[in-house]
Amino acid sequence: MDSVIVVSMCLLGIKCRYDGKSVSWEGLKFIKDSFFILPVCPEQLGGLPTPRPPSKIEKGDGFTVLEGRSRILTVEGKIDVTANFIRGSQEALKIANLFRENVKAVILKEKSPSCGVKTIYNFNTDSLKTGKGVTAALFIKNGYRVLSSDALEEIKKL
Ligand code: SF4
Repeated sequence: MDSVIVVSMCLLGIKCRYDGKSVSWEGLKFIKDSFFILPVCPEQLGGLPTPRPPSKIEKGDGFTVLEGRSRILTVEGKIDVTANFIRGSQEALKIANLFRENVKAVILKEKSPSCGVKTIYNFNTDSLKTGKGVTAALFIKNGYRVLSSDALEEIKKL
C-alpha cells in the first residue's frame, strides 16, 4: 500500500469548518500525487453539526483537556463541548490506526482548538498562544508524526 498522510479535512476543500467553509491550502500540491490521503474532521466525528458555534479551549491546551484539567467551550454562551472534541479526536485516531503501519505523517490545520499544532486561540481574546489542539495532542501522545498545515517546508520533504 502507498504511504498514508492523515490530513484535516477542511484543508482538502471540504466545507467542514465551524463556519461551513473550507480553507485553501497550498500544501495539498506537495502530497496529492505521492500519498494516499486520509481525511479526518474531528469536530464532525465528535458529533458536532456544520456550521457550528466557534469554540475555544478554556485554559492550557489540548494536553490539558485530555488530562481533564480544562474544558472546551463555545465562545458565545459557554456551552461545554469538551466531550464532543475528545470523542472526535479518539475517532480520528481510530481511523488513522487502521493504517498505522503506513501512516507517514498527520497534517493538521493550524490554530484550531482540535487541529492546531503550534498555536491555538486564547479563550478571552482573539490573540494566539503557543499550544496544541485536542486532536493534535492525542496523535502526538500516540506516537504519530504531527505537522502543522503551515509547515510547508517540512511537508515538501515528506
Ligand atoms: S480544523 Fe480540524 S476540526 Fe476544524 S474543520 Fe478542519 S478538520 Fe475539522
